[in-house]
Parts: sequence; structure tokens; C-alpha cells
Amino acid sequence: MKILKFGGTSVGSAESINALLDILKQGYEQGEKPIVVLSAMSGITNLLTKMAEEAEQGISFGPALKELESRHFTVVKQLIQIKNQNPVFTQLKIYLNELEDLLQGVLNLRELSSQSKDLIVSYGERCSAFLVSKIAAQYFPESLFVEASSLIKTDSNFGNARVDLQQSELLIRQFVQENPGKFLFVTGFIASNVNGRITTLGRGGSDYTAAIFGAALQAEAIEIWTDVDGMLTADPRMVKKAFPLPILSYTEAMELSYFGAKVIYPPTMIPAFMKKVPIVIRNTFNPSFPGTIIQYDSGRTSYPIKGISSINAISVINVSGSGMIGKAGFSGRLFSLLAHEQINIVLITQSSSEHSITFAVHPADALRAKHLIETEFELELLAKKLEPPVIENELSVLAIVGENMKQTPGMSGRLFHALGRNGINVRAIAQGSSEYNISVIISQADLSKALNAVHDAFFTALKKTLHVFNLGTGNIGSTLFRQLLEQEAFLRDNNDIQVKVVGMSNSRKMLFDVEGISLTSWQTELDSKGETACLETFISRMQQLNLPNCIFVDNTASEEPTKHYLKIFESNISVVTCNKIANSSSYAQYKQLRDTARRHGVDFFYETNVGAGLPIVRTLKDLMTSGDRIIRIEAILSGTISYIFNNFIGDASFHDVVKKAQALGYTEPDPRDDLRGTDFMRKMLILARDSGLAIEAKDVDLGAILPKTCLDAASVEDFYLELQKEAAYFDTLKEKAQRENRAIRYIGKLEDGKVSIALELVDEKHPFFNLSGSDNVISFTTERYKERPLVVKGPGAGSEVTAGGVFADLMNAGA
Ligand code: ADP
Ligand code: ASP
Ligand code: MG
Repeated sequence: MKILKFGGTSVGSAESINALLDILKQGYEQGEKPIVVLSAMSGITNLLTKMAEEAEQGISFGPALKELESRHFTVVKQLIQIKNQNPVFTQLKIYLNELEDLLQGVLNLRELSSQSKDLIVSYGERCSAFLVSKIAAQYFPESLFVEASSLIKTDSNFGNARVDLQQSELLIRQFVQENPGKFLFVTGFIASNVNGRITTLGRGGSDYTAAIFGAALQAEAIEIWTDVDGMLTADPRMVKKAFPLPILSYTEAMELSYFGAKVIYPPTMIPAFMKKVPIVIRNTFNPSFPGTIIQYDSGRTSYPIKGISSINAISVINVSGSGMIGKAGFSGRLFSLLAHEQINIVLITQSSSEHSITFAVHPADALRAKHLIETEFELELLAKKLEPPVIENELSVLAIVGENMKQTPGMSGRLFHALGRNGINVRAIAQGSSEYNISVIISQADLSKALNAVHDAFFTALKKTLHVFNLGTGNIGSTLFRQLLEQEAFLRDNNDIQVKVVGMSNSRKMLFDVEGISLTSWQTELDSKGETACLETFISRMQQLNLPNCIFVDNTASEEPTKHYLKIFESNISVVTCNKIANSSSYAQYKQLRDTARRHGVDFFYETNVGAGLPIVRTLKDLMTSGDRIIRIEAILSGTISYIFNNFIGDASFHDVVKKAQALGYTEPDPRDDLRGTDFMRKMLILARDSGLAIEAKDVDLGAILPKTCLDAASVEDFYLELQKEAAYFDTLKEKAQRENRAIRYIGKLEDGKVSIALELVDEKHPFFNLSGSDNVISFTTERYKERPLVVKGPGAGSEVTAGGVFADLMNAGA
């Protein structure tokens, strides 16, 4: 014999009742006649509660009663043959009339006791179980509707009554014996006290009804049929990647449900555990899926924890004071006081100094708890041995649960790392001595982010998701999107990483999609669906979404975004950028950005500030952090200048080479913007700062390539004329180089705390002698690389390599 319990969503509509019937019919054909326990139709218990509470306020319940009637009547019309409908309507009408009388009483008296409330909400289960039994009777003539209120006996704690298991089991067994061969359809949730008054078992209590029946009859299994594939690793409404667990122990299921996994009501585990009856959670809408078995052993899994659960709204009360130190009876007095007043304490932590106790309660109980404490400890408060209790609201509890945690060190480390990295502040921590659970209290605003980040941290065989907000969709931005798309499968299969671009903006439009913007059709979507771009809104939206593993990518070259980096770090979001401006303006800003990022535990990566995708910034950083000492850095970091001098050989005139470089698109519209060397200077400045120098742009000794007349020319055309006039100056330089078999190079140098950039002639032994095209090159002479320097060389410009560098930074920032 099995007990099958169907929850609200499984009886919520004609379609779902049909799914339920299919499940029953399939078993019936194989001779199975389980006991079926039913909840109220989905939403009905809430509706009844609201009607009762509003009636007490004098608000009419008429429209709600109509809604209630129509929910049930619609199903009658859809699922009961016309000739059989009348008696069903009649009985439902009787229920509804009784209900109306009760509500009218509440409305007249403006008084709602918890006893009346239980009686009122009991109609939800009575109507639904009655209705389903009548629908079922069309297929199974031996169907019998059972009001379990007469079989489950409780105390008189209305709303959350305590069950007398012994007596109830006896009554259940007796009833079943007296009704052999019947197919029982039983109300969930409701019971009665010694006086026969209706009580209820607490919200979600139909699961408990099923377990009580299962234990009484020593059932083969208690099946909880609901609308998900079982107990999942986390609440699927909060964590999209949650997946069903095949096996849980009773304790694990208890802990998960106690800390918020609504799928099963925690007390359900007790009778099942006592009689060793397995509980199986299954999906009415996916009946072929095996679901979750809850049994004695927890079963082995490859994951160190089973699941993560959470209570969305919790209040924390902090009691502190010198009077508590060494006072053995203090906490006893405190907690028995609260227990006596039926205030449920969700979690307790006490500091080892015994100076304070922090405990969490449901928000509805917080004020009452505070007042109770103030009354009970009035004398201690007056004597200043105790501080007035302080309530903190808008908090949540997150708990990781699993029996395997006991044998696995580092679990709390992993938890706190995931929280810390995402900037989530932990207000209080509690670990059960059983080590089945570690719970933390965090701000409610962070809950969704925390759940997802912690889920990613523990279920690592699953893909980790990076959430990217990208600014700038020009050459580099669009190339990055293409590269991300091309690399998607590789990252998934080899790195278990999924990159979602969840926000993008250019100067005209911006677009958001938490599920990830399509990287195939982003351009059309941005144009057609995008909102008008606004940098402030873009950033505040990114902050509000509060997504885990979030990275801001600045693929622009403008100053505006860099003004927001600090704020972004302060919201614990990493920044990846090819934009040089932030790093090359004042040293104070450079320093502040790093300090802020470090303080918030986030990354600031800008490999592409120097030499595009070439590993220069990273190499310097690795040298520095591993304890090497920089003696000298020499570099050619302007692809344009590099190209020009590589081609300024033989018969070529300087004028023609510059002209050609411009024609090939290697220069800025005004080639002097390259030839002045300011961009190069910025790169040298960043490298100098990264190597530990506190220096400003004005400290860089920037040698000129061009004579003053060329620099001063009014237009680009005039500039070219001046270049021609100065041909002799350049030719002299070239001839000298040729004569000495040397090459002209514009070289940046960092040595003895000084940075300079100047034209030089280098001989063939110099590592910069052989340089082709527009290559960049940098040589690091250090304590370790003293004999021969460490050289990095290669193409240092172009959208393909720059986007590639941004991509690599992105992967490192998400690591
Ligand atoms: P029923 O009406 O069938 O009793 P409930 O609404 O009480 O169903 O419980 C099922 C719901 O619990 C699911 O739809 C899901 O949204 C929610 N839930 C929360 N946490 C979990 C979890 N860890 N695993 C499965 N479901 C969960
Ligand atoms: N109908 C009740 C509730 O909504 C009991 C249950 O569904 O388990 O809480
Ligand atoms: Mg439920």
C-alpha cells in the first residue's frame, strides 16, 4: 500500500486533475489502490485566509466567495458527466453556504479567532478532496471521500496544531480496517482537537497528513506529487541551474525544508523516519521521472553538499550586555521565554565571549519577541547589565546542507569565498553541531545573487555563468561578441564556463537581458529593442540586477565610463577594459582604483592597455609578484611609428612612408597624433606605475620625432608640405643609420625611476633591430633576466588581437 499526496497545483485545474487521474489509472490497472491525500486547489488556502482576515476588517468577502465557487464549479463542468453533476454541485453549495455563514459571523463581530480561521480555511481541502473523489468515482466506483479531521487528533494550537501520533494512527488503522476495498480520497492539512473542533497542521501541512497515514499503515512509500521533478539543489524560482536530487536522507530533507525548501513540509519527515517509510517526491506533470527518494541513508554523490536553501524574510534580534557573561541561566531564560510564547527561533549564534546572543525569528514575531525580552529582563536593563534588544530587518538566511559535509574539509571556506567574492556581507553564521548544515544571514537584497554564486561554487560540474555588461559595440566590442560566440562550445566543454552578455550599450542604444543577449543577432536586437543609451542608467541597472560573477567591460576609448569605475568596484563588480584613460590620468586616480578594487575583492584587468593582446601587463605583474626586481624596461609600443621606421629605408622618403601608412589606415586621421608619441607615453606611464613608480605624465621625458615646423603646421596638408621641406633632416638620420648599419627606433625606456621616450639608433645586436611591420616589442631586464632580457614581441594593434586580449582578461576575472 502506498500513500499518494497531490499538492495544490496538481488539483488546481481540470488539466492537472486529468494528469492526476492518469497516474491513478495506471496504478489501478496493476491492482494498486493507494490512499490519496489532497490539498486545496492552488491559491485557495491563501484566498480563504485573506477572506477571513478581511471580513474581520469589515471588508466584503462576496467577490472572493464567487471566485472560490467558480474555481470549483468550472472543474465540475469540465470533468463530471452532466447526469452526475447535480449532487456534486449540491454538496459544494452546502460547503459554500456554511463558509458564507462563518464569514458573515466574522464580519458582523469583527472578530476572528484562530479557531474560526482554521475552520474557515478547512473548506479548501474539504471542497477539493470531495470534488476529486467524485471525479475519480467515475472511473473507480469504490472511491470514498474521507474527512481526515476525524482521524487526525491534535492539541488546540490552532493554525499549527501538534499531532497526537499514537491516537491518530490508531484511528486511521481502525478506519481503514472498517472500509476494506475502498479507494480513499482524504483531505490533507486538517485535523481536530479533543473537542472535535477543526485544527490545521501548519501551511503546507497536507504533506504531513500523508506521512501520518503512511506511518499508521506502515506504507510501502509516501509519494508527494507536486509540480517539480523532486527536491532540487535549490529553489528553482531563484536558481535556474538547480537540478533534482535522486536521494536524500530524512535529516537532509528536514534541514533543507526547515530552511525554506517549500517542496516538502518539514514535520513530514518525522512519522516517516520513525516507521522507516520512504518518501518519494514526484512530478505530476512529468510522471515518468523517478523524482527524489528520501530514506534512511543519504546515498553517495559526487558533490560535497546536497542543496542550498533559503528563507527570504527573516529578522535578527541581538541581545548583548555584560550581564550575560558567565551567567549560566541567561540563555535558558531567554529561550524558554520565547518558546513559551510560541516564537519560533530559526537560528542562534553566540559570540564566544558570551557578550552577545544573536537569533533569527520570522519578521511577524520580531516586535513581540523584543517586547517580551524587555519585560522579562526589565531589571537587568535598568541596571545596564543588558543593552536594549536590537532588531534588524530585511535579512535572509541561506543554508548549505548535506551529510557529506562532515567528512569534507573546506566547505565553509568555499561558501565564504563565493559570498566574499561577490561582495556579500555575512551578518551572522551558524553551524549545526551535526555539521549537516551551515547557515549564514545576509541582506535580503543579496539573496538571489548569493544563492546563484554559492550554487556555482558547490556544483562545479555545472557550468559557471559569467554575467557581462559590455560598453562599446564598435570594432573591439563586436569582435569580442563574435569571438565569444565562436568559443562558446569550447568554454562549455572544457572550462565549464558560460558567458552571458546580459547588458550592452553603445552611444545610441542599450539593451538588457538576464538570460543573455543573443550574440548572433545582437546588432538587430540592440537597434530594434534597445532603449536610448544612458551611462548612468546602464550602470545602475547593472547594480540593481545584482547578478553573481558579474563583470563590466569597457570597450570604449572615452573618458566618461572611467569616471564610474570606482562606483562599480564599490558594488563588487570587476572591470575589464581596453580603455587606457583611467590608468593614464592622475596617479592618485590610478592608485585609488586599485585600492578600491582590492578592498572589494574584485578584479581590474586591462591587459590591452599596452600592446593589445600581447602578454605585457600580465608578465610585468607576474615578475613583480613573484619577487623579481625590474632593472630596465625598453619598449616599442606604437605600431604606427614602428611601421614608419621599418619602412623608412632605402630610397623611401619620410614623407612618402607616412603618407603610405596613412593610406593603409595605420595612422590616426592626423598622423601627428601618433608621431607626437602621446599614446606611447600613456602606455609607458601605465607600465611604470605597474612597476611601482608613483609618476605623472609630465614626468615622462618625451623626445620628439618631428621637427617643430611639422608639429606646428596648421592642417594635415600643411603638415605634409612641412615634411617634404624637412626631407634633409630625416635623410640625414637615415643615412647615418645606414652608414653605421643601425636601425632607427623610437624607444621607450624605464630605468632608475625615470621614463623617457626617444629616437635611437640600434645595432644588430639589439633585440629591437629586427622588427617587422607594425610589431610591438618590450624587453624586461630584471634581477632574474639580467644576462638576456625577457622579450615579448608581436602584433600590438588591431581589433582581432585586442578583443582577444579583452576575452582573456574576462576569463581571468571570472576565474
Ligand atoms: P504543492 O502545492 O504541490 O505542495 P508547493 O508549492 O508546496 O507544492 O511546493 C513545490 C514548490 O516548491 C516548487 O514549485 C518550487 O517552486 C518550490 N521549491 C522551493 N525550494 C525547492 C527545492 N529545493 N526543490 C524543489 N522545489 C522547491
Ligand atoms: N492547502 C494548505 C496550504 O496551502 C496545505 C497544503 O497545501 O499542503 O498550506
Ligand atoms: Mg506543499
